[in-house]
Amino acid sequence: MPLPTRRDLVRMAAASAAARLVPPALAQEPRTVGYCVVGLGRIASHFMAGSRLSEYTRIAALVSGRRDKAEKFAAQYNVPPGSIYGYENYDAIAENKAIDAVIVCLPNSMHAEYTIRAARAGKHVLCEKPMCTTVADGEAMIAACRQARRKLMIAYRCHYEPLNLKAVAWLREGRLGSIHTIESAFGYNSAPGEWRLNRKLAGGGPLMDVGIYCLNAVRYLTGEEPTDLKGSMTVADPSDPRFKEVEEDLVWSMRFPSGAVASCQTSYGVAMQGYFHVRGSKGTLHMDPAFNYDGLRFAARIDGQAPIDESSQYRDPAQFALETDHLAECILQNRTPKSPGEEGLRDMRLMMEIYKSCGRA
Ligand code: NAD
Repeated sequence: MPLPTRRDLVRMAAASAAARLVPPALAQEPRTVGYCVVGLGRIASHFMAGSRLSEYTRIAALVSGRRDKAEKFAAQYNVPPGSIYGYENYDAIAENKAIDAVIVCLPNSMHAEYTIRAARAGKHVLCEKPMCTTVADGEAMIAACRQARRKLMIAYRCHYEPLNLKAVAWLREGRLGSIHTIESAFGYNSAPGEWRLNRKLAGGGPLMDVGIYCLNAVRYLTGEEPTDLKGSMTVADPSDPRFKEVEEDLVWSMRFPSGAVASCQTSYGVAMQGYFHVRGSKGTLHMDPAFNYDGLRFAARIDGQAPIDESSQYRDPAQFALETDHLAECILQNRTPKSPGEEGLRDMRLMMEIYKSCGRA
């Protein structure tokens, strides 16, 4: 028998890790959830690769403006030619019984329209973060899915990632005592020409794209909603053509009802590996990286206890299988996702408050 390649080993490790997390009730369910993938860019590729590690997910249809690109993915994922759509005939997915759900992988400002049309076509929706670009759009997305009696889940990967979940469990159990401060950052040096630099498509700059991980993490780590947000944003070089419409750097602080305070930053000008650092009355908990697709590291230093250092066993794209298994469980058992539209809408409202405090119109 030939020795497995490195790629085989990575795949096997991810598959067995994902299998360990399969909800027991689902293990008896014969059904799978067929996804229509809308927008075939970077995150769509990760999602489709992750679907191969999930027993409950299949790629049923594709939507793209480029038929040639869609055909390549269709060949990889056994999608029949009749299940390839363009944006112009997207609503025809209503007639396709192989599609149970849509995953919206488009630029941020297009999420609302494609979610609402999916719900009207009778499909459940997994929508990428940020949920949308305005509070009104978020409310309309929730209303449309509710009216159609379809699930709406926002693709907050970290809500399903075991080390992030372990950090939350430790904080809820009080292992760090009371939480005093949290620091979190996530940023990168953006390439020119990205739709992310166009405010109409992106809704904002790095806050909407990667700062949202810090905001969301501080909320799930504390289990509280901030009462006070203050931000400040800047463009280091005003002649940099990338930052005509969106901020380059943004820092903000938040206070929580328990008294905990958080300090976060995000950037499109400098690389900041996404991390969080929690300081409590009995010790510290650090995840760095905390938000990547793999290689996550968890470190805890609790007074009087041996230090804990743990690395994630999951390799990309296993996180996408964990996320999609959760939505499958919710669809097949008629339960509400852990990251529903309302969760995305809370972040939207808070991001709008942060921008307001920065003086953005
Ligand atoms: P991308 O640019 O790689 O892909 C976007 C896709 O949308 C492309 O296939 C593009 O052709 C298509 N598209 C359709 N209309 C378009 C238009 N008018 N302008 C530009 N593109 C158009 O982007 P991405 O990195 O895949 O991001 C897509 C979404 O996924 C964003 O909302 C982003 O925030 C989110 N995302 C989530 C994660 C995560 O880990 N959950 C990671 C990356 C991106």
